[in-house]
Amino acid sequence: MSDSTYAVFGHPVEHSLSPRIHAEFGKQLGIALAYTAIDAPPQTFAAQLRAFDGRGANVTLPNKQSVLPLCAEVSDFARRVGAVNTLTRRLDKHWRGDNTDGAGLVRDITQRHGLDLRERHGLILGAGGAARAAAFALLDAGVAQLTIVNRTPERADELADAIGEPDRVHTRYWADLDTIGNFDLIVNATSAGHAHEALQLPFAIVAPRALCYDLSYGLVASAFLAWARAAKAGYVHDGLGMLIEQAAESFAIWHGQRPDTDPVYAELRAELPLHASD
Ligand code: NDP
Repeated sequence: MSDSTYAVFGHPVEHSLSPRIHAEFGKQLGIALAYTAIDAPPQTFAAQLRAFDGRGANVTLPNKQSVLPLCAEVSDFARRVGAVNTLTRRLDKHWRGDNTDGAGLVRDITQRHGLDLRERHGLILGAGGAARAAAFALLDAGVAQLTIVNRTPERADELADAIGEPDRVHTRYWADLDTIGNFDLIVNATSAGHAHEALQLPFAIVAPRALCYDLSYGLVASAFLAWARAAKAGYVHDGLGMLIEQAAESFAIWHGQRPDTDPVYAELRAELPLHASD
């Protein structure tokens, strides 16, 4: 096992910012590490992971769910979400799986942007892997009520069932958004921006002083952020901070030290919208 070797497995992965973020963290804390991006299509991912002798890895689309059975141990949060984004080599060489996406989102909102999540009435758009992590983490952080709306409604229902809190979590159809009332937390967890598809969203869902947050960033987030500003949302943020915070959580799991994320955030923020994918 190579003690200083780490990687991110994804497909596509060539635009991943993770190698750069982890290199910056290592430099900051004087920890020598090599972190590379490994292109891993679903068909070959398991074999590629078996051949990898590093100490830790991140896993991104499309392998976050399929990696679960490859772990000898999975954190409670990752088990609830049904997805792993951080692998840590145990002493017996088997993998432990964690999911740091939810903690990254909550930390970005509460610590970087200084916003309280407690008692908010939230709306999540999307029900894919990132929406699942966001939903569990926001509820854990004290969001009072959460409504899930997804293009494919069955997936929203599956997520609500998995959460199992019918008093706090509801699903609605996209077409209901016109009449559903308003929310003081709206999270875009769809990947529509990657396909340059605009979401059909009425301004009426935005409560006064609402936080509108897009998990993506750069050009991908621009349409949702422009809509939120036009709807006069109180706070409008993209997911760059979440990306850096989830990386810092992984880094802390591997190295036992949490880096200062602010300098890395400032550096990458200054370059946006040059980077348009995670
Ligand atoms: P998934 O592929 O798992 O899910 C995609 C979701 O988007 C599904 O709910 C899908 O709906 C919905 N969707 C796609 N296109 C449209 C559309 N045109 N209109 C409405 N809904 C649509 O992706 P992830 O959950 O992994 O990622 C979602 C987003 O979160 C991405 O933009 C990704 O970049 C970002 N992300 C950011 C992270 C960060 O650290 N900042 C971390 C992880 C993800 P349906 O079920 O109907 O197909």
